[in-house]
Amino acid sequence: MKIHEYQGKEILRQFGVPTPRGKACFSVDEAVATARDLGGQVWVVKAQIHAGGRGKGGGVKVAKSLDEVRNHAQQILGMQLVTHQTGPQGQTVRRLLIEEGAQIVKELYVGMVVDRAAQRVALLASSEGGMEIEEVARRTPEKIHTVRIDPAAGLDAAEAARVARAIGIPEAANAQAVGILQGLYRAFVEKDAMLAEINPLIVTADNRVLALDAKFNFDSNALYRHPEIVAYRDLDEEDPAEIEASKFDLAYIQLDGDIGCLVNGAGLAMATMDIIKLYGGSPANFLDVGGGATTEKVTEAFKLMLKNPHLKAILVNIFGGIMKCDVIAQGVVAAAREVSLNVPLVVRLEGTNVELGKKILADSGLPIISGNDMADAAQKVVLAAKGAQ
Ligand code: ADP
Ligand code: MG
Repeated sequence: MKIHEYQGKEILRQFGVPTPRGKACFSVDEAVATARDLGGQVWVVKAQIHAGGRGKGGGVKVAKSLDEVRNHAQQILGMQLVTHQTGPQGQTVRRLLIEEGAQIVKELYVGMVVDRAAQRVALLASSEGGMEIEEVARRTPEKIHTVRIDPAAGLDAAEAARVARAIGIPEAANAQAVGILQGLYRAFVEKDAMLAEINPLIVTADNRVLALDAKFNFDSNALYRHPEIVAYRDLDEEDPAEIEASKFDLAYIQLDGDIGCLVNGAGLAMATMDIIKLYGGSPANFLDVGGGATTEKVTEAFKLMLKNPHLKAILVNIFGGIMKCDVIAQGVVAAAREVSLNVPLVVRLEGTNVELGKKILADSGLPIISGNDMADAAQKVVLAAKGAQ
């Protein structure tokens, strides 16, 4: 689960990581009033969307007077902000962060991710902040310093001090940087993050170190123990189909192809998307109905897929292990009737009660195309999708 920059900064402050003072604003008047309250001479008006690259896209603007704050706020609030992370359609800006302008001497990069292979949290740090870290990794990988943190010991102060030196933080600010890196690590672990990124972490003219940006991504499987993170959820930033899916406990991710996939089990769902690609098709979604799919769940899954205007055909690929094929077949038939299916439907069933399941499909009178195995079903659905074009 992603959150906004201003929310990320709230978390950082709780863990002793300094940030500029600022406040989230929902209207132009509120933005101006906030700048007035903050005082000073320079403010930054920042679009709050769940995507990075806002600066380049025109979503971060410096203001040197309250009039400029008003102008920038007017321009940014409500705009369709396009960045390399939003896709070409962009994202509507509904919130702003108004914060005090910082005097930047150096922009650095600090990030943490879970390194699955090492089974540790990896700290990545670089002197090349402010730009996309992927670019730095590609062009000058030697400028990225990585530390895999021992979970039993935590981030050691000496190690943090070494990293701070390696990315060019002056000695006078070294102790602050150590506190920031350790604070970020504690935030990461205590809040069950999957990614935490401060880009840029800056050094100011008076040698203060501040987080100017904050990006967090939390493990959805751990949200049950973080109501304070769930409270940060902004449904405007999420795909409506994915919100609908989460209500029915379906794992659904919209993709840009035209073949809908309804599968039980994440691994089989991935393999199904792969085999569709192999035979020249393109999946419209990832959808895992889980181990105990009911007729209701299958019906909701069909409804979700059918809302996609690009949909040309559907492939149902079920392995009846815990679930029985006849139950699934009944679900598919009931769902297809209820939603008055208007695209070709290919079904591949395997496992417990498969013969009974196939009979239910055949007897239903619905124009269901039966796939004998995964390869056969994938080829049939790719053909059907092409035929429907
Ligand atoms: P994004 O990563 O989405 O582009 P950032 O928050 O990193 O957004 O802002 C982009 C750039 O704007 C930063 O690299 C920094 O140069 C500048 N900036 C952001 N916040 C401030 C601030 N409070 N004071 C001064 N400059 C800022
Ligand atoms: Mg940034």
